[in-house]
Formats: sequence, C-alpha cells, structure tokens
Amino acid sequence: MNLSNGRTIKTIRIDVAKCNGCRACEVICASFHAKPRYSSTNPARSRIRVIRDQVADIYLPVYAGKYTAAECAGRDKYVIDGREYDECAFCRASCPSRDIFKEPDSDLPLKCDMCESDPTVKEPWCVQWCLAEALVFEERQVAEDKAPALDDVDIGLTALANTHGWPKVLDAVGRMGGTEKKG
Ligand code: SF4
Ligand code: SF4
Repeated sequence: MNLSNGRTIKTIRIDVAKCNGCRACEVICASFHAKPRYSSTNPARSRIRVIRDQVADIYLPVYAGKYTAAECAGRDKYVIDGREYDECAFCRASCPSRDIFKEPDSDLPLKCDMCESDPTVKEPWCVQWCLAEALVFEERQVAEDKAPALDDVDIGLTALANTHGWPKVLDAVGRMGGTEKKG
C-alpha cells in the first residue's frame, strides 16, 4: 500500500511458540543502548524483556511501549493453550506497579525505539539476534493521523518531572526519541 500522506509504522511480531527463553534479545538491546554503546549488558536496561516461567513452560518476549503515569484498574488472568499468564504479562507499558522498563539507576521509563540510530540498522537488533525467529520485524504504511494533543504530552512530562526533576526527564526524552549519534 502506498499512501501519499501516510507514515510508516514499525512493529515486531512475536511468535510465542518459537521463543525458547534464551534472552539474547535482552542482552543485545541493553548492550546497544548502553552509554557508551556496548559498554554493559544489564538486562534491566533492555527495552525488551522475556517473561519466563519454566514450570509453566511460558516464554513471552514483550517490548516496551509508552510510559503510563498511573496503574490500570482492570486486570485479567489469561489462559492460552493451557498456560496461565499473569495479569500484566502482555502489557508493554512502563508503569508504577512493576519494575520492568525502567532505568535501574533513575527509574525513568524506557521505550523501544526500533533501534533508530545513525546509521539506521537494517532490522532491530533483537530481531537479528533471535536465532529462534520468534521476533519478526514488520513495516506497514498507514494514513497520517492527528498529532497527539500537546496537552496530553505536557501532562505526561510534568507528572514525570514532579517525581524525577526536569533535567533527568529531558535526558530521558532525548534518549526515547531514539536518534543517537555515534560517539
Ligand atoms: S532471543 Fe528470541 S528466543 Fe531468545 S528469548 Fe528473545 S525472543 Fe525468545
Ligand atoms: S527493537 Fe531495538 S530498542 Fe526495541 S526492543 Fe528490540 S533491540 Fe530493543
């Protein structure tokens, strides 16, 4: 599909049945986004996390989405193919109720940037490192929708700044934007 006023959406399709829980995706994501690049491999800094439960045979990769300032109210258990998944297992948000998708030092939210960088990577690193082919990179064209309301952005940033201070928040926003120069 070729839309003149469209934009490209990048996603990662996850085939849960193929994931073996090796966590290579976490290692490369954390390493690629370390500062300086490749200087550490702490999975807590990864923007993809693998929920693992060997007894229940659950290996579920989830990559980080948007930050949310508040915990959600409605939570459900999921049973798929006889396996029971926790209420938050499929959630991609960096959220106050759990520890994942937060920088360990500052607690600031992490968000997947599809490995936007300069030069651009051919495919996201986690996809390239997943030898089990559980992660599949996809791009599709969609019609341009309205830009997010400035008020919403402002409210979200202000809530973060109240907790962490503006300097840390602005640093995090710069990183979440994703375009990093080398060096
Ligand atoms: S690299 Fe692939 S197989 Fe290994 S944990 Fe990540 S998604 Fe699963
Ligand atoms: S696409 Fe890149 S930033 Fe996103 S989870 Fe994978 S390695 Fe991390």
